[in-house]
Amino acid sequence: MRDYRIAAIPGDGIGTEVIAAGLQALAVCAERDGGFRLAVDHFDWGSAYYKKHGVMMPADGRDRIRGHDAIFFGAVGAPDVPDHVTLWGLRLAICQPFDQYANVRPTRILPGITSPLRAVSGPELDWVIVRENSEGEYAGVGGRVHQGFPYETATDVAMFTRVGVTRIMRYAFRLAQSRPRKLLTVVTKSNAQRHAMVMWDEIAAEVAAEFPDVTWDKMLVDAMTMRMVTKPESIDTIVATNLHADILSDLAAALAGSLGIAPTGNINPERAFPSMFEPIHGSAFDITGKGIANPIATFWSGSMMLEHLGETAAAARLMRAVERVTADPRLHTPDLGGSATTAMVTDAVCEALVGDNS
Ligand code: NAD
Ligand code: MN
Repeated sequence: MRDYRIAAIPGDGIGTEVIAAGLQALAVCAERDGGFRLAVDHFDWGSAYYKKHGVMMPADGRDRIRGHDAIFFGAVGAPDVPDHVTLWGLRLAICQPFDQYANVRPTRILPGITSPLRAVSGPELDWVIVRENSEGEYAGVGGRVHQGFPYETATDVAMFTRVGVTRIMRYAFRLAQSRPRKLLTVVTKSNAQRHAMVMWDEIAAEVAAEFPDVTWDKMLVDAMTMRMVTKPESIDTIVATNLHADILSDLAAALAGSLGIAPTGNINPERAFPSMFEPIHGSAFDITGKGIANPIATFWSGSMMLEHLGETAAAARLMRAVERVTADPRLHTPDLGGSATTAMVTDAVCEALVGDNS
């Protein structure tokens, strides 16, 4: 029996609802598989914790999850706590020290789901966005001087290192190489950002030489948004900076039907630290407590987590169950135009898992 320890951090808002659903499906998945067990430790860190203790997570928080095999994360964000506090206090406070520098964001149009792009269907939109997750625009370098005065100055410096860019580029080329089309688009804004982005392009060309079987091209980020809408079939794997990929992946999620289905993994490829899996979406105050949050993004993230743990068969079985459920419009939550609840979708995925005999 293979045993894994998972740290569950549901966080805020619908984060708690979708993580509960995700853990339910993962438990059924493990039972159905029979070859592994998941021991889950729950951590109540987030905005409620912040209001009580003045911090999003305890000082020794990272030490408490460092030894886990993976982290299953919901979302952070509360109406009465500033977003930069929740983000830097928990999500980035885990991603950055744990060196989860590769943020992997698959996008596909799942069966039964309609893209807002008319005439685009399944096989024409199958992408993976690789987001640099440790530096760039979110390096945290900057400051405010003369705060509140008319001559106040504020900076957020986008910081790129040769080591950081080279490792994400290698990760992206390797991922592109593992996919059938072996196609990578390197996204920048190297016309306007003439230092860091030019280095990014140079490093892309250097790393490309190590992967002669990968076809690659370069694209400015603004033009990339148009290409995603007008020529989705021309795209396969994308690599972009922290900020650019953050924005492109919300667009990708919407083009695939809903933010409520988009998953992500924050990966430390060297496995020196646990990797973290989460839905892309936030805490969604507007639907919190209504029981209608779409849990599909979290199930898909759970499947990525199983894959990362090496449980490939269980990961595939969970995705098959998800796809059987999305194929039925009666099991679509309101974000997909249906009227199903989180519980209905979760029960249906669990039933599909039990009934999967392949
Ligand atoms: P959001 O992702 O929470 O919601 C955007 C829209 O998508 C809302 O209308 C919401 O109802 C809908 N939506 C999102 N997930 C859904 C799901 N699973 N099912 C159905 N509908 C879903 O983004 P926002 O409204 O910009 O931000 C709300 C809070 O979340 C803010 O505090 C923000 O900082 C935070 N946030 C956190 C993360 C994270 O923890 N990774 C990511 C994005 C936003
Ligand atoms: Mn985002």
